[in-house]
Amino acid sequence: MKVVSTIKEVRENVKEWKKQGLTVGLVPTMGYLHEGHGSLIKTARENNDKVVVSIFVNPMQFGPTEDLESYPRDLEKDSKFCESLGADLIFHPEPEEMYHEDFSTYVDMSVLTEELCGLSRPVHFRGVCTVVNKLFNIVQPDNAYFGEKDAQQLAIIRHMVQDLNMDINIVGCPIIREEDGLAKSSRNTYLSAEERKAALILSQTIKMAKELVAEGEKDAEVLVAKMKKNIEKEPLAKIDYVKAVNGLTMQQQKEIKAPMLVAMAVYIGKTRLIDNMIISEDGQCR
Ligand code: AMP
Repeated sequence: MKVVSTIKEVRENVKEWKKQGLTVGLVPTMGYLHEGHGSLIKTARENNDKVVVSIFVNPMQFGPTEDLESYPRDLEKDSKFCESLGADLIFHPEPEEMYHEDFSTYVDMSVLTEELCGLSRPVHFRGVCTVVNKLFNIVQPDNAYFGEKDAQQLAIIRHMVQDLNMDINIVGCPIIREEDGLAKSSRNTYLSAEERKAALILSQTIKMAKELVAEGEKDAEVLVAKMKKNIEKEPLAKIDYVKAVNGLTMQQQKEIKAPMLVAMAVYIGKTRLIDNMIISEDGQCR
């Protein structure tokens, strides 16, 4: 496995692979990798000849008061992890490699980016769409892998690929959780022992929501109200949002029906965590 930091090196490798007719899978990440990222890399490994993992803490997707500086980083550990999963190439650029001084072109999507996380993180999805677009142009993958943990991001990327006619297959991968239910996240490392316990309120509330839907709840407003009430029982939790929206358009929906995304962002102390459940058209609720 190679670790490269320049766009030129990525292009040289990919060009050689494409000459041989090999398929390429891309897993975009911000690093500090865990089993959630691991599941994306494993899926990419199974379905492509070559696997590229990008590790880039993208400054453009962080707001001015967010955790860009403190975001955890450990390239050495990440490299070992990727190698153990059979990745072929890590692309780990410096911000200056991705954004020249005179950088001025952005991918700015409307509607889908204005709901849920977009409300409290107004510059976030512009940064995500721009960097993912750049990574797609640099790596030119056949397949790209994203987690359902960031379900709004996944919907936005799918929409961008459709809008801009990108010839890339977007693959969504299920949420990987800790044994006690907490969705794995690089940001979980910010939690104190007490906060780590309190953070369970997110996955417990998602579990409760799944049960309510399984029992036949059809009213999205009732579901959301019950979820909020449950979260409010936890003194360390502060709700950013809890919403039930159409899974494709991200617009609020009164009736519980597929495709649907029931998503939440909750502060545990200073750490903002997200979790969700997806009701897909095949009737699955996950
Ligand atoms: P990040 O490094 O947090 O930007 O995440 C990189 C990719 O990994 C995104 O597509 C995330 O949705 C995905 N991911 C992160 N955590 C998880 C998880 N617990 N389960 C599944 N996918 C995840």
